[in-house]
Amino acid sequence: MKILVVEDEKKVARFLKLGLEAEDHQVDNAYDGEAGERMALSGQYDVIVLDIMLPKKNGIEVLRSIRSSGSATPVLILTAKGSLEDKVEGLDKGADDYLVKPFAFAEFIARVRSLGRRIGAEKSTTLKVADLELDTLTRKAKRGGKEIELTNREYALLEYFVRNVNRVLTRTVISEHIWEYNFDTGTNIVEVYVNKLRNKIDSDSEKKLIHTVRGAGYMMKID
Ligand code: CA
Repeated sequence: MKILVVEDEKKVARFLKLGLEAEDHQVDNAYDGEAGERMALSGQYDVIVLDIMLPKKNGIEVLRSIRSSGSATPVLILTAKGSLEDKVEGLDKGADDYLVKPFAFAEFIARVRSLGRRIGAEKSTTLKVADLELDTLTRKAKRGGKEIELTNREYALLEYFVRNVNRVLTRTVISEHIWEYNFDTGTNIVEVYVNKLRNKIDSDSEKKLIHTVRGAGYMMKID
């Protein structure tokens, strides 16, 4: 998921970012209420983690502004103040969940995950090519109903193939898209990854999906 963390304590913000990234989320930080509000209103986040005590604009005001813009993005409020009134105020203004500092990181991750699942029901997208299915939210792949274990990179490569079915993808295009880098010629990393992926998705199936296009690159197609 793409997550915005609005937290002015740099150490906490950094800790949350690193932790969420380790869980495979994409994280942006905002360090004050105004920046947080601006970024939240951009509408590009799946979940917003919002501290209440913030410079420039407090979290409750930011939340009010997010909700009055019509956005239903799940918001997890973080606050050092644990009083009941704050909790009620936060939830009244449209927060989806609430966590009192100091909190255990495992608890934080569990809350974020649960908010993600809530939107997941609406936003999850399944991509299909033949009997291959990808869930773009959970980043899981199945072939013939059987789940396939993939690394992050392999999943990204597979999704790229699926989104470009019947199109030739050159090694350069693949390396630029998946590694955001054009490898020097002579590096065979793209081949290595494509072969790993083939072993996982095509080796047990009679119908091969990933094809080599001689002299050009690769193509996903139904044979
Ligand atoms: Ca704060």
